[in-house]
Amino acid sequence: SDHQLTYPISPDHMDWAEYYPAFISPEPNPVSESTAVPAAPSTPKKLTRQVEVADIGCGFGGLLVSLAPELPDTLLLGMEIRAQVAEYVQERVKALRVQNSGTELYQNAGCVRANTMKFLPNFFNKSQLSKIFLCFPDPHFKARKHKARIVSTTLNSEYAYVVRPGGIVYTITDVEDLHNWMVSHFDAHLSFERVSEEEQEADKCVAIMRTETEEGKKVERNKGKKFVALFRRIENPPW
Ligand code: SAM
Repeated sequence: SDHQLTYPISPDHMDWAEYYPAFISPEPNPVSESTAVPAAPSTPKKLTRQVEVADIGCGFGGLLVSLAPELPDTLLLGMEIRAQVAEYVQERVKALRVQNSGTELYQNAGCVRANTMKFLPNFFNKSQLSKIFLCFPDPHFKARKHKARIVSTTLNSEYAYVVRPGGIVYTITDVEDLHNWMVSHFDAHLSFERVSEEEQEADKCVAIMRTETEEGKKVERNKGKKFVALFRRIENPPW
């Protein structure tokens, strides 16, 4: 349960350097603007860039490690609630770095244990992300369990907060009912618009999302259907 989860009190308190050591900024930590007091020695080291892509409920990390070489200049973060699974993904990334030592490959991937339904704004600032992936989320079939779904009016507002205008939320599921649920909740949200099928199919991340997650591979083996929908974060309406 949550009392065992560790999470930063704000995005600036997160020690990203641990996850992306190749991206630690050589600059000393800046003086805090609000207090004009030099940062305390315990202040986390800054990175040269921020995390921009989040794979929410990343499971065993198949998407993360497939996307990382495709987006070499972007920091990607898997987020997973199961402690051992999150640890496995972080070890998987470290092993890939060792196998590819002498290159930059996989330096841009990391994984944290997190309950994203509760603590997403603790990890990311407003408009920080350019992409969020929601791949094969748990369907929670029963009506009384629908509140546990990771797409809802409230959570979509959190996604709208952390995703920048123009950024994309990617969804895929093999459960048609859940697909319809996700589409109706994003369609109803003023901060999102559905991406056209043409644009969707031209996006290289969509092909990767269809084939590279562990759950997607399972659906493939069982010859199941996969339903994809993408939503663009639009500028806030002018009122
Ligand atoms: N995305 C992966 C894939 O496509 O292979 C995993 C899909 S699996 C069906 C759903 C994952 O979401 C599980 O690994 C589960 O532990 C994780 N999860 C469920 N609720 C979560 C939450 N609130 N925060 C983070 N991860 C969560």
